[in-house]
Amino acid sequence: MAILPVVTYGNPVLREKVSPVLDFKTIRGLVDDMFDTMDEKGGIGLAANQVSVTVDLFIVEIVDLEDEEDSGKLVFINSEILAAAGSATMEEGCLSVPDIRAPVTRPESITLKFQDITGEERTEEFSGLLARVIQHEKDHLKGIFFTDRLSPANKMFVKKALKEISSAGKPSKEIVL
Ligand SMILES: [Zn+2]
Repeated sequence: MAILPVVTYGNPVLREKVSPVLDFKTIRGLVDDMFDTMDEKGGIGLAANQVSVTVDLFIVEIVDLEDEEDSGKLVFINSEILAAAGSATMEEGCLSVPDIRAPVTRPESITLKFQDITGEERTEEFSGLLARVIQHEKDHLKGIFFTDRLSPANKMFVKKALKEISSAGKPSKEIVL
């Protein structure tokens, strides 16, 4: 078990292009460490580039869902969103953008093609919080932060805090929009 450092907004690795995973045997250790790290930091999703590994892989684990089953430990590799439908607005936060929370509008449900940890290809539909977290993590792998998706007014509001995260790792005060 290992807790990996989570890089924050401003670190160039988060904007780098990621490579597809080709060898599924070599990623088990990374996935285990990512779950340990996410658990330790209290997140519900984590992309590989947030721990400085630029491959097309992210994990999700949502527990204590109000009206749904726990998601279990989910691993998504070489994924692609095939379809999206609806629209929903929900507050988001991010381990790489500490102390900022803001509403983000995204499709409500998605169809995702991906490979699981064994390399098996799957296509599944997701909705609600799970679809939200998957889209947030997919964005990370494309170098996009949830703060890039805020309304122009809210973007202005978090601008200074993002600068502070870039230079100091965290903002001088918490922002909840
Ligand atoms: Zn994030």
